Amino acid sequence: MTTPSLLILPGDGIGPEVMAEVRKIIDWMGAKRGLAFDVSEDLVGGAAYDAHGTPLHDDTMAKAQEVDAVLLGAVGGPKYDVLDFSVKPERGLLRLRKEMDLYANLRPAQCFDALSDFSSLKKEVVAGLDIMIIRELTSGVYFGEPRGIHKEGNERVGINTQRYTESEIARVARSAFEMARKRGNKVCSMEKANVMESGILWRDVVQEIHDAEYPDVELSHMYADAGAMQLTRWPKQFDVIVTDNLFGDLLSDLAAMLTGSLGMLPSASLGAPMANGRPKALYEPVHGSAPDIAGQGKANPIACILSFAMALRYSFDMGEEAARVESAVEKVLADGVRTADLMGPEGGMAVTTSGMGDAIIAALDTSL
Ligand code: NAD
Repeated sequence: MTTPSLLILPGDGIGPEVMAEVRKIIDWMGAKRGLAFDVSEDLVGGAAYDAHGTPLHDDTMAKAQEVDAVLLGAVGGPKYDVLDFSVKPERGLLRLRKEMDLYANLRPAQCFDALSDFSSLKKEVVAGLDIMIIRELTSGVYFGEPRGIHKEGNERVGINTQRYTESEIARVARSAFEMARKRGNKVCSMEKANVMESGILWRDVVQEIHDAEYPDVELSHMYADAGAMQLTRWPKQFDVIVTDNLFGDLLSDLAAMLTGSLGMLPSASLGAPMANGRPKALYEPVHGSAPDIAGQGKANPIACILSFAMALRYSFDMGEEAARVESAVEKVLADGVRTADLMGPEGGMAVTTSGMGDAIIAALDTSL
């Protein structure tokens, strides 16, 4: 088997700080588990703009297309707010997503027991929660034509178009069913088939793909507004939720916040399988570059570390190692180790970014 290749793009703000902790985990995997990764590192966002005058150099884009997985920290910062839209740091990230054609955005919402007091919901509603929202990422109302603002008579009219082709729905449905087979074997598909034709097509295609290819997976359909209610009422009823770009944007943020802190949330964006069978893949924490705490050792590296764990599971077929990292995070939290963002009223052992990384490494050592 060839050595799995990973391109690391730390980016801006706290990106490099949290990525340094992922590096420790990668080194630990090499030293203690005999797992070698072919790791390269490059610039993205403001850091790339400072060096090359563009938020993503063509060479970096080409490298991203070749590797088995890309792991990104975060991009952006106040220094770059004045830049023209075309070279803003976020354009680097959008270019990666677009050119790699990453159509399935995976946002797990998982509640670690030690943090169940952090949710705005009751402890019993969120404790042990583990759901996966799959959002279609490259089509739908954010991309459909016609779009724009024009004049009709005396007033302006704003237009966006919700448009989905069968194949766009089918491929993200397959991602959801494949994911469900690796988890609780249950998919709930959400749309608004009661009021939108694209929703009717969505429901039909998801059902057809299910019946033809995944009859073993339990499938249900729900209107997206009812889904939002159910997610706050009793989220543990779900395993995998698959939905379109717009509803997924809202529902994944809602589900993410069930679990408490932004510093805990990983994500993955997957595309079509490459020649080696692995999907095109970009892993990144949900949070941004947090300029308010950058450079102070206050950032929580767990979201980025759990994003790497997702890479282990979904790109490198190392589910056992992914679980090892997740268990180490769980242990550290249960032991009361806390970065500032996780410090609740009950207190805990305050650590810096690198202190949290070290604690996770120590917990990994005990897993051997
Ligand atoms: P943010 O996620 O950077 O920060 C929001 C709040 O959460 C801040 O108070 C921050 O200190 C805190 N926070 C975020 N991550 C944390 C972590 N790991 N540990 C502890 N605290 C954490 O969002 P923002 O402030 O709206 O945006 C800041 C910059 O990041 C902007 O330039 C924005 O465009 C960019 N951004 C980038 C991405 C990305 O790279 N994917 C995503 C969102 C925002």
